[in-house]
Amino acid sequence: MKRVFLIILYPLALFLMGYLNYSKAGLLALNILFIVAILYQLKSYFKNRFFDILFFILLFYMIGFVEFHAALKDIFGVAQDDYMIIKAIIDTDSNETKEFFIQYKTYLIKHVLIAIFVFLFYFYIFKKNTTFNKKIFIITLILFIISQLNPTLRRNNPFIYFEYYYFKYQKEVALTNNYFKNFSKNRKSSNIDAEYVGKEKNTLVWVIGESNTKKCWSLYGYKRDTNAFLEKYKDKIFLFKNIYAAAPATIEAFELMLTKANRSHKDWLNTMDILTLAKKAGYKIYWISNHSTDTRGIINVFAKYSDKFIMTNKGGSRGEGSYDESVFLPLKKALDDNTSKKLIIVHLLEAHPAYDFRYPKEFSHFHKDEVYENLSQKRASWALFLRNTYDNAIYYSDYIKSKILQMVIDKNKDNSITLLYNPDHGEDVLFHSNFAGHNAKAIEQWEIPMFLYTKKFFIKKSYLDRKYQLDEVDNLILHLLQIKTKFYNPTYDILSDKFKSKISLPKDVRK
Ligand SMILES: [Zn+2]
Repeated sequence: MKRVFLIILYPLALFLMGYLNYSKAGLLALNILFIVAILYQLKSYFKNRFFDILFFILLFYMIGFVEFHAALKDIFGVAQDDYMIIKAIIDTDSNETKEFFIQYKTYLIKHVLIAIFVFLFYFYIFKKNTTFNKKIFIITLILFIISQLNPTLRRNNPFIYFEYYYFKYQKEVALTNNYFKNFSKNRKSSNIDAEYVGKEKNTLVWVIGESNTKKCWSLYGYKRDTNAFLEKYKDKIFLFKNIYAAAPATIEAFELMLTKANRSHKDWLNTMDILTLAKKAGYKIYWISNHSTDTRGIINVFAKYSDKFIMTNKGGSRGEGSYDESVFLPLKKALDDNTSKKLIIVHLLEAHPAYDFRYPKEFSHFHKDEVYENLSQKRASWALFLRNTYDNAIYYSDYIKSKILQMVIDKNKDNSITLLYNPDHGEDVLFHSNFAGHNAKAIEQWEIPMFLYTKKFFIKKSYLDRKYQLDEVDNLILHLLQIKTKFYNPTYDILSDKFKSKISLPKDVRK
């Protein structure tokens, strides 16, 4: 019976090698320990060929399952969201699969070899039967059943995992369809109050970034030159100093930014949205995205509603292979479009995890410097890599924004084009612990950069200091689109004299 515990060595070894994070390693170890213990007892009880073979097939599957997670972490650098894994597997077509195998060939061969080696090791260990012990068998069985009452453990049971997430995925697809139906109801009404009151031409380019915290911008005082490119445009843009994300996560942030819903009334489905208002006022809407979230789920509901939805990411959602520069060409075309009123939404990947997949090699800019040395005093050395790669991603996204800005400037001879940039939310990258990722309890998740380029709108210097949360950014957008509507509220438009600040953050947010 003691030899059953040897099965834990495998996830433990993967953890020590950095192929699994501690929580995943622990969850998988507990699950396979119980399952192997039960099966091993059964095998020893029946002592026949059929059970021997069945035992080793199931064991091989479990090892493959654990190694599958190790390979994911090895390839993507950070722990993957289980839900996204299933989504990616289901949504991937054969071409993407081929691409994936070619791209990650060496990783895959390595992990298959590890799995085979590990299997052979345990084959040797479990070949011999133990003496069947009824008491031990019943106790393990009871412990296993109790363990499965814990939903986190159950979800990581190799025999439940795929079914669980597949079911969850299907539910989401149904839900999205439902959302789209409800959302469409909003637009059908013919008496939507929205009127364009500007001069002949108006274009708004709204660039929405991803996981971009103000703390890592040199324009806001960060000690690394992450804004080396925008720095040259400092006098051409209006940099807002006190901006807060609408929400700490992508989807909710979009729901609140694009509709009249806000932090106190989040029911976005039953409110008006700015896309409908823009269309009603005669705007042509472009949605140019390098963000794989936009092809499905709730953001897709918005993206699909645009007149032209252009998806630039060609890598599939796992590799997310296309860098943000892939938006340049479609954006140029959109700017060249002679339509008099245009709303061009550009959704970038920016610093979406895994950070080191967001920039080409030549933008690997930050290594051992002062920031690194200071950080290494209080953070684990393995975690420092995350800040370096995050800052590289910010550095590259700064280059992207400077290019987009230059394109707009070149095209703006008649002062009709305005550009607004803000990310959906920030990111916690080792600010409070070794953790890097979305952390609603960290102020860095909320404090975000925002800038405006305009020759048309008057911006008082004092506006730049205003505290503004972007659940109300729809009012600013309506202002920039020059749409007169009852849905516009000047109190929550940062460029209005009637502006009043209204910030809502979690009570226990860490500064
Ligand atoms: Zn996001």
